[in-house]
Amino acid sequence: MPHPTRFDVVVLGGGLNGLATTYHLSRMGCQNLAVFEQFGWGHKKGSSHGEARITRSAYHNSTYAALMKECNSEAWPQLESDAGRKLIVPHRCCIYGPTQGPFSDYAEAVVSAGADVIEIDHATARQRFPALRFYEGDGVLDDKTAGLVAAEDTMTSLLALARKANVHLLDQTPILRIEPQSDGVLLHTADKLYHTERLVVTAGAWATRLLPSLASRLNVSRQIVMYFALEGLSSRLSDDDVPIWGYLAADANPLHYSMPSLNDQGIKIARHMVEGLTSDPDAPAPTDHSEMVEYLRAFLQVRLHASVQAVLKTETCLYTNTVTEDFILDHHPEHPMITIGTGFSGHGFKFGPLTGKILAELCLEGKSTVQAFSDNRSQFQVAL
Ligand SMILES: Cc1cc2nc3c(=O)[nH]c(=O)nc-3n(C[C@H](O)[C@H](O)[C@H](O)COP(=O)(O)OP(=O)(O)OC[C@H]3O[C@@H](n4cnc5c(N)ncnc54)[C@H](O)[C@@H]3O)c2cc1C
Repeated sequence: MPHPTRFDVVVLGGGLNGLATTYHLSRMGCQNLAVFEQFGWGHKKGSSHGEARITRSAYHNSTYAALMKECNSEAWPQLESDAGRKLIVPHRCCIYGPTQGPFSDYAEAVVSAGADVIEIDHATARQRFPALRFYEGDGVLDDKTAGLVAAEDTMTSLLALARKANVHLLDQTPILRIEPQSDGVLLHTADKLYHTERLVVTAGAWATRLLPSLASRLNVSRQIVMYFALEGLSSRLSDDDVPIWGYLAADANPLHYSMPSLNDQGIKIARHMVEGLTSDPDAPAPTDHSEMVEYLRAFLQVRLHASVQAVLKTETCLYTNTVTEDFILDHHPEHPMITIGTGFSGHGFKFGPLTGKILAELCLEGKSTVQAFSDNRSQFQVAL
């Protein structure tokens, strides 16, 4: 059946945040709802592909630790129940690094948010995380709330829920221009004009193409992720040889993170690159990752008790960064019928079901019931 050309609500972008917003819009009773995606469902050109992601409450800012409480107590359990499958797999997690670096912000934030994250001494850390090396001056946090998010399963579940809710799903349909009107927004595609009363823009790394006014707020950086095997240690999560860990160097781009694999794809590691790197989301991804591989190999030599047996594969993925790494969850300053969700700065997946709820509520009701968001709304605004 052909899709109508007039909608009540359109979600622009079918990544994690677009599909999570759609899930909540449907749950809130929204009819005549559509999602436009420029590529095919499940594509690997944006920010939401790949086997898994880390979820944790250890954060440098107490607002995010507080949002994680609602994610763990409500948002993920609700999505798991509607999807009929587990999407979060709890696992040991250690966030550590020199106390004179960003580690101290994390240690402070988890205390002020009352998160179930505890600071432990080196003797306890060596017992609980024997694969890791701890040096003099390192602080260590043990995050009891952490785990792996089954990212691929989350994306397929959200798409299945959208289909079940009869959402109009238009993939391979890039929106070339958005034109605000007095009664909504006109959406220009290559061969058709669509009208919607309300629009949610969750376009990830392409947000500034449609909303140039965001250009001063956003920067795109392409990440290189490495998968590897360790000598004598299993990479499989169920074998419990290796934890999830995040090391915070006292340096620019301090965070290095690693996690075992849900499906035996090797241990994943990457450096969280938000500064000093600008990428064009439409440029072909570089294929030579040797420099980053050598950097990560040397890094692992210093940080782990086991040696790298083999590099199994590398992959790339995009971050859309704000300077503070705060998300943008807000209405367009001039056009209130447009709601914007972007700037997830490489840490948005764990919040997906909750940021989707916030965006859906902002779209339909102008405000959100999520307390930790409403209490800190200025942190998520378009205009600083
Ligand atoms: C390497 C890597 C590791 C990460 N690790 C973690 C982690 O451990 N924990 C965590 O919480 N988060 C992590 N993240 C972050 C998380 O994955 C992202 O924050 C999240 O996936 C962002 O989703 P999104 O929907 O905003 O963006 P995207 O998934 O990129 O979705 C945007 C969509 O909009 C579409 N689009 C854009 N323009 C148009 C247009 N004009 N017309 C139609 N469609 C359009 C795009 O094609 C795309 O599908 C990681 C990210 C990366 C890259």
